[in-house]
Amino acid sequence: MMKINPTKKPYSGLDHAYAVFNAELFGDELPSYLISIQRVKKAYGYFAGGRFGSKDGAFVTDEIALNPSHFSVRPTEQTLSTLVHEMVHLWQHHFGKPSRGGYHNREWAEKMHSVGLAPSSTGEPGGNETGQRVTHSLLSEDHSRPFMPSWRRKASTRSMSSWGRREKAGGASQEGGEQDML
Ligand SMILES: [Zn+2]
Repeated sequence: MMKINPTKKPYSGLDHAYAVFNAELFGDELPSYLISIQRVKKAYGYFAGGRFGSKDGAFVTDEIALNPSHFSVRPTEQTLSTLVHEMVHLWQHHFGKPSRGGYHNREWAEKMHSVGLAPSSTGEPGGNETGQRVTHSLLSEDHSRPFMPSWRRKASTRSMSSWGRREKAGGASQEGGEQDML
C-alpha cells in the first residue's frame, strides 16, 4: 500500500506551486516564506508580511495562509490563483509600496495584471480593481497569461486538488471522525 503523509501532501504541493510561480511569474525574485493552511473567516487566504520568525528575531519571514475549506470545492487553478494573489502582496511588501491595512492599491492591481490575474472586487470581470476587499477573476486561457499556461504546464503536476477540509463529510461522527469546537 502506498504510504501517504497527510501533512506533507498539501504543504509540499503548495510549496512546489510557489516555486514554479516564483520562477515563471516573478523571475525568482521572491524570498522564502512560510505557508500555512488554516480556515480564515470569509476569505480564501491572506498575506502577513514579516509575521513569522525565530524567537531571537534573527530570522523573519512572511506568511501566506490559504483556507482549506475551499480546496475541495474550487477548481485547483482557482485555489492556486489565490496563492498567486497573495504572492503579489508578498512581492509588493518587498519591492513595492503597499498601502496601510491590506488595501489593494493601484500598484498591486497592475502587478496582478502582469501575472495574468484580473483584480475585481466582485470576483467577476468588471468589478473595482482597487479597494479593501478585492479578489480576482480568471479570464480565458489567452487572457490569463502567464498564470494559466504556467499552472497547466508546471504547477498542476503535483496538484493538491483532491485534498482539503471535508466540509460536507456527511456527519463526521458516523465515520469515526471528530469535529472540533470552533
Ligand atoms: Zn489581497
